[in-house]
Amino acid sequence: MVPSEAASALAALLGDATRVITTPQIVARLSRDFYWYSPVLRAQLDDKIADLIVQPVNVDEITRVLAWCYAHQVPVTMRGAGTGNYGQCVPTSGGVVLDLSRMDRIEEITADGVAVCEPGVRLGVLESEARMQGWELRCYPSTLAKATVGGFVAGGSGGIGSVAHGGLRDFNTVRAFDILTMEPTPRLLHLEGDDMHSVLHAWGTNGIIVRIWLALTPSVDWSQCVIAFDTFANAFDFAESIAVSDAWTKRLATVFEYPIPSYFAPIASYMPPEKSIVFLLIATAQRDALITAAQTAGGSVTLAAEYFGMKTQPLLSDYTWNHTTLWAMKADPAWTYLQCGFDPTRVREQFANLKQKFGDDFLLHIEFMKNGSSVVIPGAIPVVRFTTEERLNEMIAACRADGVSVANPHVNHLEGGGRYREDNVQLLAKHRYDAKGLLNPGKMATFTPHPEQTTA
Ligand code: FAD
Repeated sequence: MVPSEAASALAALLGDATRVITTPQIVARLSRDFYWYSPVLRAQLDDKIADLIVQPVNVDEITRVLAWCYAHQVPVTMRGAGTGNYGQCVPTSGGVVLDLSRMDRIEEITADGVAVCEPGVRLGVLESEARMQGWELRCYPSTLAKATVGGFVAGGSGGIGSVAHGGLRDFNTVRAFDILTMEPTPRLLHLEGDDMHSVLHAWGTNGIIVRIWLALTPSVDWSQCVIAFDTFANAFDFAESIAVSDAWTKRLATVFEYPIPSYFAPIASYMPPEKSIVFLLIATAQRDALITAAQTAGGSVTLAAEYFGMKTQPLLSDYTWNHTTLWAMKADPAWTYLQCGFDPTRVREQFANLKQKFGDDFLLHIEFMKNGSSVVIPGAIPVVRFTTEERLNEMIAACRADGVSVANPHVNHLEGGGRYREDNVQLLAKHRYDAKGLLNPGKMATFTPHPEQTTA
């Protein structure tokens, strides 16, 4: 592909040259995400860049762009807001980055609480709109303000809210998609039920999601609480007692081992020195009861205040989930992270084993979450010290050997990232919808193109 010729052809297809971008600095910026969180991925992806960016505004435009790219064998990588942290939307083979951020219409919030939206809708915008109608997101990433609905369902897994509602793949939260296929004449398909799971969290490797039906939950008046404990064990015990009990209405239950809280510079006044810290988003109606419970458990409450949505200051979610790693890296670039799931029946023993092996190079950061069987488990995004890739792999191996699951955030393919479907439905869908392997090439490692196969 000659980029200038491709740009002219695509601009003619759109009838608008301003939405086909070839300016090198903008192309470079829109070819990146937060892969640099991982020192391993940084080395692999730093020089990967698209040839040009296309910004469609409707399904018809995407269809025309895809047909042109198919005919010219040009790879296409979708982009929402580019907040993914495994290089999911980094174009490893050049070609076109399809920036869907201009397709940002909330079409409807139904009377029974399902949001119907275009992929470029910001999650924060949807949360605010939903709350005005008595609903809220079931779960969202800590990148709420920037991340898009399309990027979340294609690249994310869960987050704030998951302690009560599980992740994106659980409890029928994602109801349906409309997708476009990558074929000579792209098809517009409606996927729901089990079919939807073939494209959910497939990193845009097997279809372009152009409309999403996302189930919401009735909104709650929330309060944010910070509770300090002398030891990590006490902090963990208390957070666990709240997280697993149905008696508490909560949206977030997080525990940080000291010194992680010392990295949260803007909220240092709520982080007493040497303490392990619990963050909770709790129903305001239960705030006083929570304060009493925390004090009884030996905790000291340093913040208990109402939450007014994204503008709340401080906004505790800005320090949770993958934001925690960001604050640690700001304090010391040698920190990186893992994504783990502990066994609720052996969790304390598993903590002890890892601490004994890796000491202060492995700092515990727990995010409680409900799994698909309605069991609340201690998920974790431990902050780990990076020295070499071998040492990092040693940590991953030690976790797995002790029954701690690891979704490895230091690999750039779906299979390694931990949410790959063992029933291969994503791979089978790729053969049906992108037989030539032009969508986000290289990100589904088990896929080998069969050029002769063009339709299901
Ligand atoms: P992008 O990064 O633009 O895209 C993500 C993937 O989806 C890419 O593979 C892309 O090709 C594909 N894609 C995008 N749009 C479409 C589409 N319309 N059709 C098909 N494929 C598409 N994730 C969580 O799950 N939970 C968290 O709590 C969380 N916290 C984070 C905190 C930080 C500080 C950072 C940097 C990341 C975090 N993430 C988290 C990862 C990421 O922010 C979220 O998953 C976010 O929802 C991604 O949305 P996005 O619009 O930025 O997607």
